[in-house]
Amino acid sequence: MDKMEHWNTEQIKQYNRSLVLKIIHKKGLITKDDISKSSNLTFATIGNITSDLLKAGAIKIAGYGKSNGGRKPVLYEFNWDNFYVIALDIGVTKVSAALVNFKGDIYKENVALMNDFNQDTPLIEKVYKTIDDVLNESGLAVSKIAGIGVSAPGPIDENGSQILSPPNLQGVENVNLKDQLQKRYNLITILEKDANAVALAEQWFGTVNNNENILYVFADQGIGGGIIVDSRTYRGFKNGAGEIGHILIDPDGPRCNCGNFGCLEAMASGLSIITRIKQEIRRGVKSSLTDVYIDNENSLTLETIMEHGEKGDVLVLKVLEEASRYLGIGVTNALNFFAPKMVIFGGQLVELYPEIIQISEDIAKSRAFSNSAKEIKFIKSSFGKKSGLMGAASIIQQLLFDSPRDTLIRI
Ligand SMILES: [Zn+2]
Repeated sequence: MDKMEHWNTEQIKQYNRSLVLKIIHKKGLITKDDISKSSNLTFATIGNITSDLLKAGAIKIAGYGKSNGGRKPVLYEFNWDNFYVIALDIGVTKVSAALVNFKGDIYKENVALMNDFNQDTPLIEKVYKTIDDVLNESGLAVSKIAGIGVSAPGPIDENGSQILSPPNLQGVENVNLKDQLQKRYNLITILEKDANAVALAEQWFGTVNNNENILYVFADQGIGGGIIVDSRTYRGFKNGAGEIGHILIDPDGPRCNCGNFGCLEAMASGLSIITRIKQEIRRGVKSSLTDVYIDNENSLTLETIMEHGEKGDVLVLKVLEEASRYLGIGVTNALNFFAPKMVIFGGQLVELYPEIIQISEDIAKSRAFSNSAKEIKFIKSSFGKKSGLMGAASIIQQLLFDSPRDTLIRI
């Protein structure tokens, strides 16, 4: 943002309103006196802002604090139940929609499997149906919904309007979800790449403190990455940042979905693990999965592989160990370049095989250049399978707190 001295009166008002709202949201019950201490704003300014916020239903009076001799001071609180976000999580196998409040609680959720639809159904129709169902079930007034957040597989165009052509979402090409959803529901809509969205969820609803730089490693069927710098998503030139899955691990390695050879995604993702196991079985390596493979190749999913790993299948354990080591090498490269305070791991592969975090951590910490890399925290995502929905909710939440005048506070 420009320096404050160049701002006009409206921009300053917007900034102050946003500041007060963020303080009330973060601190819970708070008096004007404490808002003033945290914001350095005058009592008169805070009085005007709290009165606007009360009128708009963004905050409420929750009681009275201790008196210091005079009248008891009013305690303000964020009006948690007055605003909801429609969170939409588009994945490879399913679309989920949920109504999420500003605490991050899911009020209603609806999941539709891609397979439930006719094969020719366009993505936008699947999305409409999933959202309509959750809205109808909830009975919630549209006036309580602040916007629609969408977490979707990348790449996404630089304006944040279209899903371009994700390699793992077949038949989807240049779909302008943002404009279509805004028009149909008359609500502000933001579209974000899944790895960025899940990283932002940790910032808003998870364990990350303000201004801690984080790297989110989204190890799923593919591998994505999200970067948060100073509490903001770092997107890079034309949204190209964060693609940790395409860090080069071995120039002579296997072919990646992107067309290159030896990317991290081709060596450590869920899909690459499945491919590796099939290859080894074809080469005659012994495994309890051989019969599964011969019987029906498609039933050799990541879940089945993990079940056999838990029973001690040597091939599975070897392939998982290898993939974890490659992931550790990819993360080492990222640490050397970016040095985040924290690396958060999420995605289906991490959920099914959490050991991958410890193995990656050991490799990264023993190989990273800087000694201080040993202090970097490696943790698992706070939200598991709900990460995409929480991510979708957090992108709208961030927008609303940045510009309450335009969105949350319709005054
Ligand atoms: Zn690649």
